[in-house]
Amino acid sequence: MDFKKYIRDIHDFPKQGIVFKDITTLLSNPEILNKAANELYEFVKTEKIDKVIGLESRGFLFGPLLAAKLNAGFVPIRKPGKLPHDVLSVTYELEYGTDTLELHKDSILPGERVLLHDDVLATGGTAKAALELIRELGGEVVQCNFLIELGFLNGREKLNGAAVASLIQY
Ligand code: IMP
Repeated sequence: MDFKKYIRDIHDFPKQGIVFKDITTLLSNPEILNKAANELYEFVKTEKIDKVIGLESRGFLFGPLLAAKLNAGFVPIRKPGKLPHDVLSVTYELEYGTDTLELHKDSILPGERVLLHDDVLATGGTAKAALELIRELGGEVVQCNFLIELGFLNGREKLNGAAVASLIQY
């Protein structure tokens, strides 16, 4: 299945010089949406997963679909100030400046088996920070699962040996 046909390149979005992978064209096609969700599930279906952790905001698209298929719960990791209860925070470096992610402290129990999901693995900075939050709560990361991997940015090398699966590689 050539999923790349359903992904649109948007030049200079959100900033000059960036080629943004737009997945809305894949999401709006019912057959391709279903196939992509099934293939992401195939990567992990032999594992027992307690929680699927989705990264704001496009990790919230396939994350709950995967959780439903895996009989797991869904947990969001969000940008600062969005989660209403007690949170754990992590701040990480970007090319220019820093960013922060938050996770509810009671959303993962020690020893729970976790699937981390996001739409795109680029430099790996976001997923690496998310792994820190999950591990601080005692979650065991079984797999990091992405719709798209920008392999030329070597993001998976940042993920400290965690198992990585991606459906579409550039
Ligand atoms: P990283 O931290 O550099 O790996 O960037 C990953 C994050 O940026 C993910 O949460 C993605 O949603 C977002 N991202 C980076 N590049 C793209 C893109 O081309 N399309 C959509 N999202 C992107």
